[in-house]
Order: sequence, then C-alpha cells, then structure tokens
Amino acid sequence: MKTLVVFDFDYTIVDDNSDTWVIKCVAGECLPDIVKNTYKKGRWTEYMGRVMSYIGDQKVSPDAVRSVMETIPFTDGMMELLRFIANNKNDIDCIIISDSNTVFINWILQAAGIQDSVDRIFTNPASFDKRGYLEIECYHSHSCRQCPVNICKKKVLTDFLAEKSKGNEEYQRIFYVGDGGNDFCPSNSLKSVDVVFPRKGFTLERLLSRQSAQQEEDSLKPKVIGWTSGIEILNELKSSLQL
Ligand SMILES: [Mg+2]
Ligand SMILES: [Zn+2]
Repeated sequence: MKTLVVFDFDYTIVDDNSDTWVIKCVAGECLPDIVKNTYKKGRWTEYMGRVMSYIGDQKVSPDAVRSVMETIPFTDGMMELLRFIANNKNDIDCIIISDSNTVFINWILQAAGIQDSVDRIFTNPASFDKRGYLEIECYHSHSCRQCPVNICKKKVLTDFLAEKSKGNEEYQRIFYVGDGGNDFCPSNSLKSVDVVFPRKGFTLERLLSRQSAQQEEDSLKPKVIGWTSGIEILNELKSSLQL
C-alpha cells in the first residue's frame, strides 16, 4: 500500500501567501483602500476576484503576473522533499489542497520543475477571460461550519479517499503537511497511523496543541510532528517507507 502525502500550499510549499504575493505586480506593490476595504471574513475567494480585476484594470498582462508569481520563494527543504516524492511515485501519492487557485499553483510548480511530484491539485479553479483578467471560482460548497465558504479541506480529503477506496485503493498512511487555521479541520479526520506536520510557530501548531491540552491522551489521534524545514518531513517519510 502506498503512502499519501497531502500538502497545503501557501506558507507550506512556498514560504509566503501566493494571493498576496501577486500584489507585487502593481505599481507601488500595494492595493488602494477601495479594493482592500471590500474584504469580508470567510469570503477570501470573492475578494481575490476583486483584486485580480483591479490588477487587470492596471493593464498588467497575464505574462507579467506569471513572472511575478514565479519569484515566490519555496520553504526550506520543500524542493528536496518534492523531488524525493517525484522519484518514489511507486510508493507515494501526493496531493495539494489549497485555498489559492489552479493558475498560481501550476505556474509556480512548473517554474520549479516539480509538477511531476503532485498527482492532483484541489484548489479554487481559475482562468483568464478574453480581456486577460484572472477569474477565480470557489472550489465547492460544503456544510462544515469551521471552514471558509469556498473550501473545507476535510471534505476534499475525505471525498478523495472515498473515490480511491471505490477503486480499491487504500493508503497505508497519510502525512498531512500544513500551517494554517484551515488545515485544522482536515487534521481531525486522520487516524492514529497517520501523521500531521504543523509548521512550527504557525496557527495550525497552536490549534493542535490547544486541542491536545483540552483532551485526554487519545490513542486514536494522529501523531503530531512540528517542522521548520521540509527535510524533517523527508526524514520521517524515508523512515516510514524504510528507505
Ligand atoms: Mg497555508
Ligand atoms: Zn471543514
């Protein structure tokens, strides 16, 4: 049986937020208040639609946006981890579940030459319209009350696993790597054989430690291993696969 590695994208694979990095392609690298003030909590994707429409109004071409997005830095050790995954596809499946969008993620993975590491990308679908404006749609609708309206990563993961098990594919173990508040919901769907890797010093780590302080030692919970570099995850993956 294979191991499944699930990655968040922003502040996990890359060491910044792709949705705010894109602002570097406008003059002064900042948005006017008239755009900024339209953000409403839990409705980030709609807000990003307005950001991209402003960027389109500034006559920034898709190629210019792409060049800026390709400069986003990768988090320490993530390239090594993703290259290892690409070289061990017989043992490892790998998916990304992200609240960014298809266009940004594909550009960034392609620029780094690591798109072969990833089997599936679950994120908000995006495409350029005839004017060259990037349009972003919500990934799905769901009934989870903890998550932003456009994506519940737990639902994405459980739907993916259900689809796999219909094809008689089960995973030996799941590694979930993330940093953010929206990685907490899916981490609660994992089993005791699985491992959650919260980035040290980020929200997910805080939420997991608060939860474990409130609950008694629970042998049914996944193991939690904090990380600062992808190399630490790579080492866990190697020892789990006995490589
Ligand atoms: Mg993140
Ligand atoms: Zn959720």
